[in-house]
Amino acid sequence: MTGREQEGWGRRAELDAASTPAAAREGRPAVVCPRFDGVGADGAPVRLGIMGGTFDPIHQGHLACAEQAREAFGLAGVVFVPTGRPAFKRDRAVTDGAVRLEMCRAAVAGNPAFAVSPLEVDRPGITYAVDTLRALRHHYPANVELFFIAGADAILSIARWRESAEVARLARFAAATRPGFEVTESFKEELASRGAFRVDYFEVTALAISSSYLRERAARGLSLRYLTPDPVRKIIEARGLYRLEAPTTAAAVGGGKEAPWTP
Ligand code: ATP
Ligand code: MG
Repeated sequence: MTGREQEGWGRRAELDAASTPAAAREGRPAVVCPRFDGVGADGAPVRLGIMGGTFDPIHQGHLACAEQAREAFGLAGVVFVPTGRPAFKRDRAVTDGAVRLEMCRAAVAGNPAFAVSPLEVDRPGITYAVDTLRALRHHYPANVELFFIAGADAILSIARWRESAEVARLARFAAATRPGFEVTESFKEELASRGAFRVDYFEVTALAISSSYLRERAARGLSLRYLTPDPVRKIIEARGLYRLEAPTTAAAVGGGKEAPWTP
């Protein structure tokens, strides 16, 4: 989720100017998302989850992961932040950001604890997590603790993210482990030696699916029913998404090879 290269930050001052919780209450444009812009405005300590990803498409694994993180860490809510143009996925065409946003919104509709932010999709350029976290940290008062939710596959790469020391300072991590995506003690030690990352691990119900797997099924004309919420499946069908994409060999069930964000 997040940030962006220098050129994308022309809008930063503009975003900052509108970025107080009061702005949301006063009907000014939302900065993160209307539902959660005012979180923390009363000064009481509160935790907010941020789930970044390409979400191409969002699926039940993402949703279960967010839900179980919310439960495990007592989060007031979870904001899904689809990436703009992720640096790790420049090797394949990523579905238009507006369509990935539409699918995310359809997936969380009806759940008051979930929301979707266009923060990254709305910014031009390549997406870097550090910039998104900065924007979020700038928006929310200090009593809001940000928990960046990610699968263990993503956590494995955080030491390589751009400005990783700053990433470590800006947010805590809730890292979901699941069969095939476990984190070893030696990895935890190595991560600690590379930076002051605050990572809490939690185990999520194993759902051996990934967006790559869904894309591959769609490309072969196979059903996505029960792998993603029905409204998302209907958008994929109506728009004919993924149909022209050649099946990928990297689409191992349980996760693709790329990390969602960018070093
Ligand atoms: P792709 O196959 O294209 O890499 P993906 O399914 O891994 O897609 P991403 O958008 O890359 O989805 O990942 C967003 C976040 O969701 C990452 O932190 C990733 O670790 C996590 N995630 C992906 N699939 C699952 C799953 N089945 N269960 C729990 N977390 C998941
Ligand atoms: Mg992935």
